[in-house]
Amino acid sequence: MQFKTIIEPFKIKSVEPIRVTTEDERKQYLEAAHYNVFQLDSDDVLIDLLTDSGTSAMSNAQWSAIMSGDESYAGARSWKRLEAEIRDLTNYPYILPTHQGRAAEHILYGFLGGKDRVFISNTHFDTTRANIEVTGATAIDIPIPEAKDLSLEHPFKGNMDVIRLRSLIQEYKAENIAAVILTVTNNSGGGQPVSMGNARAVSSMCKKHGILFILDACRIAENAYFIHHRENTYSHRSYREIAQEMFSLADGCIMSAKKDGLVNIGGFLALDDGGLAQACTNRLIITEGFPTYGGLAGRDMEALAVGLREVFDPDYLHYRIRSTAYLGEHLRAKGVPIVYPVGGHAVYIDAKAFYPHIPVDKYPGQALVCELYITGGIRCVETGSVMFGKYDKDGQLVPAPKELVRLAIPRRVYTQSHMDYVIEVFDELIRTRQDAIGLRITYEPRFLRHFTAQFERLH
Ligand SMILES: *Cc1c(COP(=O)(O)O)cnc(C)c1O
Repeated sequence: MQFKTIIEPFKIKSVEPIRVTTEDERKQYLEAAHYNVFQLDSDDVLIDLLTDSGTSAMSNAQWSAIMSGDESYAGARSWKRLEAEIRDLTNYPYILPTHQGRAAEHILYGFLGGKDRVFISNTHFDTTRANIEVTGATAIDIPIPEAKDLSLEHPFKGNMDVIRLRSLIQEYKAENIAAVILTVTNNSGGGQPVSMGNARAVSSMCKKHGILFILDACRIAENAYFIHHRENTYSHRSYREIAQEMFSLADGCIMSAKKDGLVNIGGFLALDDGGLAQACTNRLIITEGFPTYGGLAGRDMEALAVGLREVFDPDYLHYRIRSTAYLGEHLRAKGVPIVYPVGGHAVYIDAKAFYPHIPVDKYPGQALVCELYITGGIRCVETGSVMFGKYDKDGQLVPAPKELVRLAIPRRVYTQSHMDYVIEVFDELIRTRQDAIGLRITYEPRFLRHFTAQFERLH
């Protein structure tokens, strides 16, 4: 008998209380935070869906492994264990530990980047783009055309447009392309999966032209789940085998272990090429640390070694993907416009469609983020024009292609009743839809402005 209820495949051994706040309190907190939820104290948040990054609950096995951490500066046993685990998974010979994903990006793309260099991706994640652009290089996103249609059914909406890839290679010339980066799953494009067929096509085009092919593998296990269930010939392959096959198609990977590593901090860079690995190791020593710990404590490396195994557990992955879909499908049934089909780690809401009365230069996504916090104490993030907007030479906003709001689900943290609460909060937001108001930016930094920008509500 297959039951409908998706039970959490774990018992809870340690609990972390969350403080219940009133709507009036939340109004004050949000005003003090200049309507930027990144500036809120987490103690003032009820359900924190800001990110799935570094927010996982660790297992009893991971907490036990932490006690066996070897904190030696050089040649630590914990490093050997982690290195063996990553090598078994990825089969790349050169492995560099870093304190998180962007440190690996800084090392690799800082080395490969520079003026006139071009990077091509299905979608560059925000830190990826920032680490590329800061070197003076150009980052070009080429998701498949189907990804533009937010509600179009497509099993692999995270795919890269391989036809565009071919024409970009002709346009820019292979020798100017620093790397092609395939992000799995495609985070900024909606947490959407990439098929093995697409990865294979990208791989062979890169090989043909001698272009470096890097996997941004933050959510490779979640991506493997989708391949197993949606791509014809993979239903009899294990999630881990699917991930291993995908690693085999690329020349290396970057991973923020704060996602599918099931840890609170960590990352790594793994490469096939010894020369490139040597250059990156030199940079690693300057910015992160000695190559047998990078930016990590021995105990962090132990927890990550266990997490990289646990994440491929079929019961875990089923619960993970199905519970994200549970939230998305319930919101959709209420008429909330979401990116469909639901991705792996998050539900994305189309704020432009939800608040059609708020123009894009008044940031409908940020308005929804504020309403969710005030009404329900729920924290999430705008991934529209606040995050990706630019200005033209007259200082006019060039909006992002989409005004999305991301509800990211931390791994193994919230139960179905927490999700039922979130769904109920949306009933209220639907009822008061017309009252929602836009915002104006009063302060912004040059890079990654969404983290520290300040806003004013337009009454
Ligand atoms: C989180 C993330 C990164 C950056 O990793 P951090 O650990 O946050 O520095 C890079 N790429 C993708 C797709 C990510 O989701």
